[in-house]
Amino acid sequence: MSISQEIESKINIVELAGRYIQMKKAGVNYKALCPFHSEKTASFVISPVKNLAYCFSCHHGGGPIRFLMEIEKIEFGEALHILAKEAGVELKTDYYKERGEKTGDIYDMHRIATDFYHEEIKREENNEKLNYLMKRGISQETIDRFKLGYSGNPRELFARLKDKGFTEQAIIDSGIFVGPGRDKFYGRIIFPIANFAGHTVAFTGRITGTGEPKYLNSPVSDIFNKSAILYGFHLAKSTVAKEQSVIIVEGQMDTVALHQAGITNAVGISGTALTKEHIALIKRFTKKLYLCLDGDKAGIEATFKSLENLYNEDLDIYIISLPDAKDPDEFLKSWGDFREEMKKALTPIAFYIKEGAKKYNITEMTGKKAIWEELKKMLKHIKNPIEIDAYIREIGKILDLSTDVLYSELKSFREKRVIEDVKKKSGFEVTELITGYIRLYGFFDLFLEKFQYTTQDGMFIPSFFVIKNLLEERGSKEASDDIDHDRFSAIELSIEEENAMLSHDTIVLKFLELVNYVNKLCFEQEKKNLLADIDPNSDEYMIQRHALQEKAKNMGIKVNRG
Ligand code: ZN
Repeated sequence: MSISQEIESKINIVELAGRYIQMKKAGVNYKALCPFHSEKTASFVISPVKNLAYCFSCHHGGGPIRFLMEIEKIEFGEALHILAKEAGVELKTDYYKERGEKTGDIYDMHRIATDFYHEEIKREENNEKLNYLMKRGISQETIDRFKLGYSGNPRELFARLKDKGFTEQAIIDSGIFVGPGRDKFYGRIIFPIANFAGHTVAFTGRITGTGEPKYLNSPVSDIFNKSAILYGFHLAKSTVAKEQSVIIVEGQMDTVALHQAGITNAVGISGTALTKEHIALIKRFTKKLYLCLDGDKAGIEATFKSLENLYNEDLDIYIISLPDAKDPDEFLKSWGDFREEMKKALTPIAFYIKEGAKKYNITEMTGKKAIWEELKKMLKHIKNPIEIDAYIREIGKILDLSTDVLYSELKSFREKRVIEDVKKKSGFEVTELITGYIRLYGFFDLFLEKFQYTTQDGMFIPSFFVIKNLLEERGSKEASDDIDHDRFSAIELSIEEENAMLSHDTIVLKFLELVNYVNKLCFEQEKKNLLADIDPNSDEYMIQRHALQEKAKNMGIKVNRG
């Protein structure tokens, strides 16, 4: 029996899969909705006898190792490590050598390096470094929990790894060394960065005195993807699951400080904003997320950036702003009560408005308008109507504005965006697109019905000639020479590609949106012309104006009175 077979034989697939999916008993097996594709009837089967969890529809899943790899999005070596630990099977370095697995070696080297650095900081000659951490308020217990260390000897680690049988090339490739044999992190306090499963995949070295750079990080490698790692998550995940919330902070010191203060659902991102990969990891455990990034300019930028990534993720998001723009580490050192600050956390809208209020006076109308313009840009990304409704109500309340007005404002803003997006994406004029739809789908009658202007009225619209030509083409064949046929083939192809997966009804709706947009353009122009041509105080103006309003009503366009 191979080691992986031995490990799998000791893992109960029903128990393992049960941590991720809800299953129902069906005979000797269990059935569940597939976690790998979206479906309405269960085609995912868990067989305790075969020790298999497999989807008969999308063919994902398999034995315990394969299942874990796919559901956790991890590689073989990592899944094996996790399950070996659960099964109580010891993995030896040789195992990876047999398989020719490179990553196994890297994991092992990082594990050995972690232990080495951790031993180093406890050596008597490095007492000063230990004191440095203690002075920064880090307890012995925390040092052990996070396996903090020190690199006090530039060459010893390399020698130790060689002794363990790793080749020189493999050791150099680990990213821990510069050149042959010299520890890259020499003279620095070491923060091991572990992955989800608790295996060290990289290091951060922090300088204790003066010098540059203050922090030195491992390079990206086969096992270290910076934008997917949350510092301390392996230690935080059980609390995250229990308390059903996670706190995101910046960097290692803040994470360590919060854990030491008993807030063990804190995790760190390294310098950048929260990524989609981070979010996917978090969502497996909880739907409630607190952002507590630094209070300085960069931290606020990172908060905005993180919020952008959090749109439409179906999460409850709160932002903790600590007093005096402190970071969590400083705040705790000044005896602050972090849990009290969590209670005061802001919703994203309240955060946007709070930040906006630094620039504008939101008690005045001009300030309200300016902030609303910024909020609209944020709201345009949100798809869920319930979410939008909650946000609009909140904005109305804080800015003291009617939600009706906000809604209609937002609606016209979004419509305009849709058209602009279409234009930007396709690179064609709206009128060209309309022509393309008519030619492709035979929407000619529909166009005549919904377009409220004659070709003559429309002459003032840029590139209106396209539709005009089309109409003339219908009438007499000769006029069609004006149309650039190559360009229209390109337009048709682009529309076909874009609509390939859409139902006929949806295509009709898309077409009508375009037609209505041109209706509006014509209408706006007609309104301007009317004002320019006729004395607004005359009876004639009133009559024509009324007629125009009726026309607008038929088109479904809102008109401002007066
Ligand atoms: Zn499936």
